[in-house]
Amino acid sequence: MVELENLSVDLGPLKGRVIKVLDKGFVQLLDYIGSDQRILDAARVSTGAKGGDPEKDRRLIFFLMEMKHGTPFEHLVFQFLIKCPIFVARQWMRHRVASYNERSARYRVFQEEFYVPSLEDIPDIFDEADLQEYEEVLKQEHAFYQRMIDKAKPHKELRKRTREVFRGVLGTSYYTEFYWTLNFRALMNFIELRTGEGAQPEIRKYALAISSMAQELAPLAYEAFDKYALNAAKPHV
Ligand SMILES: Cc1cc2nc3c(=O)[nH]c(=O)nc-3n(C[C@H](O)[C@H](O)[C@H](O)COP(=O)(O)OP(=O)(O)OC[C@H]3O[C@@H](n4cnc5c(N)ncnc54)[C@H](O)[C@@H]3O)c2cc1C
Repeated sequence: MVELENLSVDLGPLKGRVIKVLDKGFVQLLDYIGSDQRILDAARVSTGAKGGDPEKDRRLIFFLMEMKHGTPFEHLVFQFLIKCPIFVARQWMRHRVASYNERSARYRVFQEEFYVPSLEDIPDIFDEADLQEYEEVLKQEHAFYQRMIDKAKPHKELRKRTREVFRGVLGTSYYTEFYWTLNFRALMNFIELRTGEGAQPEIRKYALAISSMAQELAPLAYEAFDKYALNAAKPHV
């Protein structure tokens, strides 16, 4: 543990931490800038008020969150490497307030690597045999794709076009990877929408992994977010 701007953060394990998600995917926190303290400092540049009192710090973060003063939260920045099925990435990339760089299927050959749900992930009218068939279909797709890639191997000038065309047969369960850089304000929006009950379980698992990292890096801001956004959105019973 090290002291970082009045905040104890376990820097070593969090930076670079990998959380496995689904059967072959993961979330890796490559890097980050800031903490709760950075949010407080950014807010206080406005008035020049001095920090250092934990009770005042807490009140300020909760006030900012409640009043939707969103900009101080933008100074906390996360950079992730994500590996997920293409259908998850499609939902993910609808979140426009972030920077993305994804692996290319024009320049790289896709391996036979796809998501297979487990029995508990699917409705109970389906069984192991249905999952085996699911896997078989995806393998067949890849076998055809690989055959076309191999056919173009002797023709250097045709390889790129071959990859462009025949990637089309690969299903959206195939894994992709991308860099994802965004600030905490945009991350809160992602977590709120993608941990919600309406979100598909697969992306929900990724969002939960990410939320645990955000919570560790900025526990006070996350607590305020939980109170004013996550819990506020849920009906109380
Ligand atoms: C459960 C669920 C089901 C969904 N189903 C569908 C679906 O069936 N079809 C479909 O197309 N999409 C669907 N979506 C995607 C959804 O409509 C959003 O595109 C996605 O959740 C990204 O949210 P966002 O725009 O808030 O995020 P971001 O794009 O990251 O934007 C963050 C915030 O910035 C602001 N902002 C960004 N761009 C603009 C803009 N152009 N104008 C004004 N303000 C802006 C908004 O305040 C926004 O909340 C679904 C999402 C969820 C969570």
